[in-house]
Amino acid sequence: MNIQKNHSLKKYNSFSVETKSRYFCQIASNDHIDALLEWRQQSRLPLLLLGGGSNILFINDYQGMTAVIKTKGIVIVNEDSNYTYIKASAGENWHQFVRWTVENGYAGLENLSLIPGTVGAAPMQNIGAYGVELADVLYELEAVELSTGKRKIFSQQECLFHYRDSFFKANAFGQYLIQSITIKSPKKPQWKIEYSGVKESLKAQIINAETISNSIIALRQSKLPDPVVIGNAGSFFKNPLLSQSKWQALKELHPDLSGYPQADELMKTSAAWLIDQCGWKGKRKGNAGVYKKHALVLVNHGDASGEEIWKIANDIINSVNDKFGIKLEVEPRVINC
Ligand SMILES: Cc1cc2nc3c(=O)[nH]c(=O)nc-3n(C[C@H](O)[C@H](O)[C@H](O)COP(=O)(O)OP(=O)(O)OC[C@H]3O[C@@H](n4cnc5c(N)ncnc54)[C@H](O)[C@@H]3O)c2cc1C
Repeated sequence: MNIQKNHSLKKYNSFSVETKSRYFCQIASNDHIDALLEWRQQSRLPLLLLGGGSNILFINDYQGMTAVIKTKGIVIVNEDSNYTYIKASAGENWHQFVRWTVENGYAGLENLSLIPGTVGAAPMQNIGAYGVELADVLYELEAVELSTGKRKIFSQQECLFHYRDSFFKANAFGQYLIQSITIKSPKKPQWKIEYSGVKESLKAQIINAETISNSIIALRQSKLPDPVVIGNAGSFFKNPLLSQSKWQALKELHPDLSGYPQADELMKTSAAWLIDQCGWKGKRKGNAGVYKKHALVLVNHGDASGEEIWKIANDIINSVNDKFGIKLEVEPRVINC
């Protein structure tokens, strides 16, 4: 394992924010993981695991070790009459994994096409899009406990998945390195195409994993900025979950407010709509701004610092709170050493 000092992370975060890590390494094997854990025990410095850096905002330099996970491998591990079980290593690119399943005739991941990042980070916030979440397809995952080096298998239920949340984010934050995930691909898939625009874009095509994946890729490309062209981390805010009474009261005042019933009688509403109503869509402050086509996406127009992006995020939180009495929650991890 090659450790570098004061390494730039600009290439390793999708906001393209210039920031440095005091120590930096890449993890490409189990031996590297063991070496990393040993280094951590000796140095007692904080450790930041990084996949594609597409769900993170660096406000300043990181004073510990940043370890970028690069382990590779996709393999079919089991099959029964209902499912095929496919295991992927943490460092695999998520979208390439999705396309591998689609191109090899396995269903289940097609709605999650073109989400940036890696396989290992996907369980952290239970990635989701177009009516499907990782929780719907994950069978189990393997993780290493950072303090002991012990390998543990977590069943789907043990991952405690919720909307953009999991055991690893909410209960055991920073305690595990996710090594691999195993998904179960149904042999008799039930396609999910009701979500906004998917059915329409499929038109007269035969419905299968490939056509759904292609439609979702096209839809995403039409709405979301490509981080290679303009720095961003996708949705910067979670869609708020409101009590029925709060939602009803707001709906009376704002008939356009959307509401999607959730568990525990909560209503999920659109953070993008709330932000748009406060006039933020397309606004710019210096090099940081809100994407012109999507109010949920904060962008780096050039050389914005993490602080500039964080400032605009907080201005948005305050204006939505002032107008609607809703405190938006941030989706990406914010590193503020
Ligand atoms: C244009 C764009 C569109 C997006 N669209 C969506 C979307 O539709 N749905 C969605 O859910 N998300 C979306 N995202 C957010 C992002 O793609 C996902 O959260 C993705 O899973 C992040 O993966 P990553 O490898 O880049 O994670 P990183 O940003 O590298 O890390 C995210 C978190 O996971 C931790 N982590 C990373 N790897 C590991 C590991 N192996 N073990 C333990 N912890 C780890 C990190 O420490 C950090 O806390 C989007 C982002 C962008 C830029």
